[in-house]
Amino acid sequence: MLGAMQDWDLLVTHLIDHAAREHGTREIVTYWADGQQTRTNWAGIRCDALKMTQALRAAGVGKEDRVATLAMNHSRHLVSWYGAVGVGGILHTINPRLFDDQLEYIVNHAEDKVLLYDAAFQPIIDKMKALWPSVELYICYDSGEHATSFEDWIAGYDGNAQWAEVGERDPCMLCYTSGTTGNPKGVLYEHRSTLLHAISGLQPHAFDFRPNSVMLPVVPMFHAASWGLPWAGAAAGLKFVYSAVNDPMVLCDLMADEGVTHSAGVPTVWLGIFQYCDATGTALPKLDVATIGGSAAPKFMIERLMKNGARVAHAWGMTETSPIGTVGAPTHDWADKSFDEQVAIVAMQGRPVFGVELRTVDLDDFTKELPRDGKTSGALQIRGPWVIKRYFKADQDATTADGWFDTGDVGVIHPDGTLQLTDRTKDVIKSGGEWISSVELENAAVGHPAVAEAAAIGMPHPKWDERPVLFVVKKDGADCSAAEVIEYLSDKVAKWWLPDAVEFVDDIPHTATGKISKKDLRDRFSDYKLAE
Ligand code: ADP
Repeated sequence: MLGAMQDWDLLVTHLIDHAAREHGTREIVTYWADGQQTRTNWAGIRCDALKMTQALRAAGVGKEDRVATLAMNHSRHLVSWYGAVGVGGILHTINPRLFDDQLEYIVNHAEDKVLLYDAAFQPIIDKMKALWPSVELYICYDSGEHATSFEDWIAGYDGNAQWAEVGERDPCMLCYTSGTTGNPKGVLYEHRSTLLHAISGLQPHAFDFRPNSVMLPVVPMFHAASWGLPWAGAAAGLKFVYSAVNDPMVLCDLMADEGVTHSAGVPTVWLGIFQYCDATGTALPKLDVATIGGSAAPKFMIERLMKNGARVAHAWGMTETSPIGTVGAPTHDWADKSFDEQVAIVAMQGRPVFGVELRTVDLDDFTKELPRDGKTSGALQIRGPWVIKRYFKADQDATTADGWFDTGDVGVIHPDGTLQLTDRTKDVIKSGGEWISSVELENAAVGHPAVAEAAAIGMPHPKWDERPVLFVVKKDGADCSAAEVIEYLSDKVAKWWLPDAVEFVDDIPHTATGKISKKDLRDRFSDYKLAE
C-alpha cells in the first residue's frame, strides 16, 4: 500500500516561490563594492531569477549544466542561485580566494559552462580564461566593460517563464572543499537534500528566525553553500542585508542602520569587528543571534558577544554536510547556570539539529563505537539526508561500510548530545602514546592579551614521538615572551600538554577559507628541531 498524500517534490524553487508569494515585500538590501546601496525584495529576486532562466535558455544552457559564480554577497548573486537551479542547472559557487592551480582544477573538473563574476575579480578572469575551455559565457555582475553586464543580460526578458521540470533527487548545487591536502573535492547537493537542510535551519535551535528577523550573512555565498542561508532565508521570509565588501566599518554601519538582528560568520569576522569597534570607540552592534562556525569560536569572543546581549549559536559543519551538523542553543536549564558555565557550554560545538545523527568511533578501529561520556575522544562520524555519500565524479562512496561519513574531526560527545571538537584527525599531537589537542592549546593561547593568533603542531621528538610547539603572532604593538605564554597556559591545560617551545612568527599561513593551514605551517618548519 502507498500513502495517500499529494506529490510535491522537495525542490528548491519552492523556496523562492514561497518567499515571493508570502513575503514578497521583505527587502533585500545590498551595499556594493563601489559604495552604492540598492534595495529589492523577494518578489523582485524571483522575477529576476525567472528572467535569468530565460537568458540562460537563450544561451543554450539547461538541465545539469554547471552555472558558476565568482562573487561576493549581493542581491544579483542571490538571483543567480535561483536562476541557475531554476533552469535545471547546477549552481557552482567558486571561492575567489582559491589559489590559481585550484581555480584551474575545479572549473575544469566541474566543466562549468557559464561563469558570472564580480568586476573586482576581472584580474582572475583575465589570468584564467585560457585555462578554462569549458566556459562558453562570461557575465559580469557590476560592469559591462569586459563582458555583458548582468543587468543588460536579463533586461530583454520579462520573467514570464516556468522553472525547469526536475525531480527532487536531481542535483542543484556543487561546492568544492578547499582541500588542505590533494585536489579540492566536489560535493554535489540535490534538491531534496538542500530543501530538507533549509527546513532544518528553521528550527529555533538552529538560526532561530522570527517573522521580523533581519539577517546580515557575513559568511560568503561561496563558502559551504553560505551555510544554507539563501535557501533557509527564503523559507523564513527574512530581510537580508548583504555587503559585497568585508569591511568592519561597513558591516557595523549596516547592522545599525538596517536593524540587523541576526548575523553569521567565521570567528575572524568578529575579530575584525571587535578591533574596529575598539579602535574607533564604536559600540558593538546589538544582535539577537550571532552564528559562528567554520572554526572554533574562542571563549573571549563568545563572552563579549553574550555580554552584549546576543545568543551565540556556535555551529559545526562541513561542505560535505551541507553544512549544518550541530548548533549550540540555550539548554532547558539555562537560567540555573552561571555566566561562566554558559560560556563553557557555548564554546563547545552544540547539539545535532534534527535530521542528522552523530557518533564517535575509535581512531584506530572505526567499527568500535565510543560512549557518549564527555571524556572519550574519537573520530567523529555523521549520517543524514544532507550528508555526502560520494564526491562528484568519484567512483567510490565516501562513507563507511555501514553508511556513515567520517568527518576527519576528532571530538567527544557529552551525555546530553553536545559535541565538543578537540582536533582534526591529522592535527592531533601524539605524545608518549597520549593525545594532545592542538585546538585546545591554540584556543587557550589566544586568550593571552598579547597574542593575535596561535597554531600548535606536533614536532618529532626522540622520546615522546611528538611534542607540541606553539607558533604565535603577536598583536600589533604588544609584547610577551615565550616563558610568559607558557606561564599563562599553565593553569589552562594539563601540564604535559604545555608546548616544548613557543616560536614567534610574523604570520601563520591560511587556507582559502581563512583557516589556519597546518599543512603549510608544517612545510614551512619541516627542518625544525626541538631541543632535547
Ligand atoms: P574547508 O575545509 O573547505 O575550509 P569546510 O567549511 O567544509 O571547508 O570545513 C569544515 C571543517 O571546519 C570541519 O571539518 C571542522 O574541522 C572545521 N569546523 C567547522 N566548524 C567548526 C567549529 N564550530 N569548531 C571547530 N571546527 C569547526
